[in-house]
Amino acid sequence: MSDLLNHYTTRQESILKSIRNLVERETRSREESRLNEIANFVAGQLREIGGQVELIPHSGYGTHLIARFNFDHDNADQRVLVVGHLDTVWPVGTLERLPFRITPEGRAHGPGIFDMKSGIVLAIESLRTISSRKLATKRPVTLLLTCDEEIGSKTSRALVEDEAKNAAAALVLEPPITGGVVKTGRKGIGTFTVRAIGRAAHAGLDPAKGVNAIVELAHQTLRLAALNDYEQGVTVSVGLIGGGTALNVVPAEASAKVDVRFWTSEDGERIVSAIRGLTPALTDAQIEVTGGINRPPMPRSEKNIALYEHARTLAAELGFDIRDDVVGGGSDGNFTAAMGVPTLDGLGVDGAGAHAEHEHIIVDDIPRRAALLTRLMQTA
Ligand SMILES: [Zn+2]
Repeated sequence: MSDLLNHYTTRQESILKSIRNLVERETRSREESRLNEIANFVAGQLREIGGQVELIPHSGYGTHLIARFNFDHDNADQRVLVVGHLDTVWPVGTLERLPFRITPEGRAHGPGIFDMKSGIVLAIESLRTISSRKLATKRPVTLLLTCDEEIGSKTSRALVEDEAKNAAAALVLEPPITGGVVKTGRKGIGTFTVRAIGRAAHAGLDPAKGVNAIVELAHQTLRLAALNDYEQGVTVSVGLIGGGTALNVVPAEASAKVDVRFWTSEDGERIVSAIRGLTPALTDAQIEVTGGINRPPMPRSEKNIALYEHARTLAAELGFDIRDDVVGGGSDGNFTAAMGVPTLDGLGVDGAGAHAEHEHIIVDDIPRRAALLTRLMQTA
């Protein structure tokens, strides 16, 4: 067994304890004081192992954390950027229902464990190992942990892009596809609200004087559905609708929230202009469209493939194989990739059930994923 794998196998129990510690700090997006608290806690650990830590609080959200490890490369112009997020999708109190537990089959469960508390611990462990064992590195490493990824990275996007400017590579701590499959491509994402405005009238006395906003929205919903092109990977899904005020009133207002995904910026732009260009179907109705693209696509570019191939070589040296694939979900890797930085995503511990009740990691996968991340930090 490689020395590094051996090291992490010895530390597995202690790593699991750290993962449990983070899981038991519930940190749903926008839980400001909890997200401040976890950022401070992680900052303490990173300072202990030699990181220069900067905390960036955002009122109403929480705190973003940047930790820089120079590793004797004081004048390097490019760094390795490691990106993760401290927030989860789970409401505070979920732990009571789904406590941290390890099953006899060796799965560790808990809200946010797979996405991505265990990934954060892998990064801290890797930095600790490089520091304490004085392992050789090619460049300095920056760890950026944000607090609002699960709600679209509104307050952290600029930070991610700023750090990406000087990055030779971006390593993203998101969970892998089940089976440990890393992610070399992600779809771009847009979200829109389409609002139909009609005219209210009594549904029994003079319905003809009204303009039914729900009927208008139904027309728009079908037009939106017609924009789907599964072959091209373009999806347009009306996910939420609302409207009307009372059963006996012709509704004056109705609205829909629309989720859009695409592989290329050209497709993204085409769909955006199609949605912004929606026109009313009913006489006297109006349409208002707000929203736009919030994550650019992360194409499976040659740069990403080269970084993946490098990771695959490192994994082979450690004695295992990895595979890659592309997914429809977005992450902060979309931003780094769009800046032209070679990006490898899905570097967390193997498991399943992100955002789902059965969320878990495979305990025995911890040592090799930790070893792979360490080697990537050393050599990317
Ligand atoms: Zn995530």
